[in-house]
This record gives sequence, structure tokens and C-alpha cells, in this order.
Amino acid sequence: MTERYDILVIGGGSGGLAHAQRAAEYGAKSAVIEYGPLGGTCVNVGCVPKKVMWYAAHQADAFHHAPDYGFDVTVRGHDWAGLKARRDAYIERLNGIYERNLDNRGVTYIVGRARFVDAHTVDVDGAIYEADRIVIATGGRPMVPDIPGAELGITSDGFFELEERPQRVLIAGSGYVAVELAGVFNALGSEVRVVVRKDRVLRSFDAMLSSELMNAMDKSGIDLETGVIPRSVNQTADGIVLHAEDGRTFGPADAVVWAVGRSPNTESLDVDKAGVAQDKYGFIPTDRFQQTNVENIYALGDVTGREALTPVAIAAGRRLADRLDGGMEGRHLDYKLIPTVIFSHPTIGTIGLTEEEARAEYGDGIKTYQSGFVGMYFALGTNKQRSAMKLITAGDDERVVGCHVIGEGADEMMQGFAVAMRMGATKKDFDDTVAIHPTSSEELVTMR
Ligand SMILES: Cc1cc2nc3c(=O)[nH]c(=O)nc-3n(C[C@H](O)[C@H](O)[C@H](O)COP(=O)(O)OP(=O)(O)OC[C@H]3O[C@@H](n4cnc5c(N)ncnc54)[C@H](O)[C@@H]3O)c2cc1C
Repeated sequence: MTERYDILVIGGGSGGLAHAQRAAEYGAKSAVIEYGPLGGTCVNVGCVPKKVMWYAAHQADAFHHAPDYGFDVTVRGHDWAGLKARRDAYIERLNGIYERNLDNRGVTYIVGRARFVDAHTVDVDGAIYEADRIVIATGGRPMVPDIPGAELGITSDGFFELEERPQRVLIAGSGYVAVELAGVFNALGSEVRVVVRKDRVLRSFDAMLSSELMNAMDKSGIDLETGVIPRSVNQTADGIVLHAEDGRTFGPADAVVWAVGRSPNTESLDVDKAGVAQDKYGFIPTDRFQQTNVENIYALGDVTGREALTPVAIAAGRRLADRLDGGMEGRHLDYKLIPTVIFSHPTIGTIGLTEEEARAEYGDGIKTYQSGFVGMYFALGTNKQRSAMKLITAGDDERVVGCHVIGEGADEMMQGFAVAMRMGATKKDFDDTVAIHPTSSEELVTMR
């Protein structure tokens, strides 16, 4: 028998859950199809367990600075397995909360793997469902390079399965996952080496952020090797060794972590049966209203290849329901000025254009303001950590089009500045704002 819904959402991650729930609040009969644990990448193998690990690393850093503040602290070790058990239990609680949330809003939860039969019909492990609207929110998964021995490495998914901390860690990748995991391993006591293909980490971010982070990584004892193109990996008696195209070898390591990007979960979805177009990587392009090339099929979140962030997927999902089910004509997500944080050591917060992008868009009509300093937290000790900030303005009125911060507290600093920038704040607005003292964020309103 075929079950009918107003909306079928494929994928119970950040974006899919947000859409189904908001639509149900407006009265639509919605169902979410999910084969894995509810909450998707963010809750199970992304933001949430990652932030727990970042907190652990942050705690380890605090012990280093404790003597500066008069504490006589002896740390006798770190119980990685115990931390993992508590982290897993926390995530299990969240999975339960997500399921109850669906129930409370009357959203049907269908367990299984969906594939398209046609533009209105989906097969879930043999059961057939039909809907007026189908929303693809299947997210993505970590990529593994196609080289011999790659299976000896793990991905970020495998990182969250580790029952004990590997002592020698080799991370291949230059994006935010690579630098975040490097910071965690390093702070908790592993010897960490990061190998990147080009010349720097975080290449899509403002150059100031990557050079400051590379300096900080170096100072903290992380070894960074550039220009490394992995050719093969093999297991030796002493550990895993990575061979580069240019003949260099890296290792032996106890764990090799691939942090080399993510691909969309579209492989087994049979979207072609519904006529849905994909790009050459398998991502599903949409217009600004999240609509695919097929009228009743929408896509949102990581599967679209746009900014792969949880709040982006959630915002796209909610706005789509607001428009289609809540009568808010024209409502859609504006993908400009999306703030984001990298939970590296130190943290990075960034909004808007990099200097390079601003120059490409506004030519010589941009101005930059920069500041570098050691935050007060580090004033009493010898192990000092630098903060750096950059504002980029454009036009005669000096509208702030880029704001980039690296340093202690950057993670909690940026949300409010993102509001200001969305409202069109100018450098004068920043200057006219009274500083909060003593903080690091006050630098952003006192730059000259
Ligand atoms: C290590 C790591 C750290 C991260 N940290 C952050 C962070 O700090 N902040 C942040 O904003 N973002 C972070 N992200 C990104 C964030 O997790 C994603 O952007 C977000 O989860 C995307 O949501 P989504 O709904 O598009 O997809 P997902 O959350 O991936 O959900 C997709 C769901 O679809 C399911 N699915 C796939 N195919 C099918 C099918 N055929 N049938 C049924 N179900 C299917 C999957 O099982 C999955 O549960 C991180 C990601 C990683 C990997």
C-alpha cells in the first residue's frame, strides 16, 4: 500500500528536520526518512561531538595557564575512553530528543534508505511513499583519496569512534576539519603532523587568518608540511606511513586521518529517476528558493554544495517551509554574510568577504584595518598567544564587508557583529560604538 504525504523529507539531519518540523507547525502532513541516527552529521559525527572534544582541548590548555594564576596543578592523565563514553551518552540523549521533537509536532519518522521511483514517489527499503513535495536533505560524507592503502586511514567519522588517543597522528587536509582535529589531538597530548597539498591551511579564508593560524600551530608544536600530494599509504611494523608524490615519506603514525573534503550523499538516491539534475560532483544545484530543476523537488543543506554549515541547512529548511506552507511570499535564505567559526587553537571567527574577494568585487575601493595583540588572559605567563583582527570596508561610506578574527574568544565574539554587518554597518558605526573593556572584542571598535 502506498502512503501519501504533503511533504517527504529525505534525510533527518539539520536541514531535513528543520524543514519537516516547521512545515508540520503550519499544518502540512510531513514525514522524515532517515536510515542513520536522527540529527545527521552535526549531532552524530560533526559539530556536537567535535565541540565536546574542543572543550576537552580547551580544558587541557587551561591547565597550562593555571600556574600563571597561582594554581599548583598536577594533571595525572586524561581518560579519552571515559570522555568518549560521556560524549556518546550525550549524543544518544540528543537522538532521543530529536525523535520526541518529531513526535510532538506530528511528523512521521520513517526508518530506512530512500530512493526515488519518480518525481512524486520514493521507495524506502521496499515500502512506497508518495508526496506532493519531496525535499532532498541527504547531506554528505567524508572523502577518502583514491590511492593505494587509503583504507589504513580514518576520516572524521572514524575520529569519533576512537576508543583511545593515538600518540602519533598524521592528518592530511587543509580545511577546517583538519585544523580542528589537529588542535584537539595536540592539546590532549598527541604528536601531530598535518600535511597539506598547497602552501597553506584554510585556503578559502582570509590570508591573515591562515598565516596567523599556521604560526600558532607551529608554536604549539604541530608540524605542518606543505606541497604534499599523497601517493600511497602502507602499514609498517612501526606504524602507518604516507608516501607523497615527490618521494617524501611521512610517519610512521598510529593514525592517519583524511580530512580532504566531503562528497554529497546522492549516490544511491536515484535522483535521475525523478529527473533531478546534479553537478559533476553529485551535488544538487538549486535556485535561491531551494528548488531543483524539478518543480516539486527541493534540496537544502550540504547536498546542495553551498556553505556546509548546520545553521545554513536549518535556515534554508525553515525558510522554505515559511514560504511554501506559512504564506511568507518570497522568503528564502540569503547566502551572503554567513558568519562562521573554526574551532581551531586559537579559534577563528569570520564574516563576509576575504580581502582578496573584496578587491575582486570592489577594486581599489576597499580599505583594510588590522590589529595584532596578546590578549590579557596571557599577560601573566610566558606562553603567550596572539590575537589578530581584520576589518575590510568598501565604498565611500566604508561599509564593513569583511570581519576576520583569530584569537581567544573569537568563537563567542562574532554573532553580534554578524547582525551589525547584515544591517549594513559602516566603519563609522563601529567607531561610534563604545568599547567593552577589558575584552579582546573591543579592538574591533577601536581600530584606526
Ligand atoms: C567534523 C565536522 C565538524 C563540523 N562542525 C561544524 C560546526 O562546528 N558548525 C557547523 O555549523 N557545521 C559543522 N559541520 C557541518 C554540519 O555538520 C553540516 O553542515 C550539517 O550537518 C548539514 O546538515 P544537512 O541537513 O545538510 O545534512 P546532514 O546533517 O548530513 O544530514 C543528512 C542525513 O541524511 C541521511 N541520508 C542520506 N541519504 C539518505 C537516504 N538515501 N535515505 C535516508 N536518509 C538518508 C543521512 O544519514 C544523514 O543523517 C561539521 C561537519 C563535520 C563533518
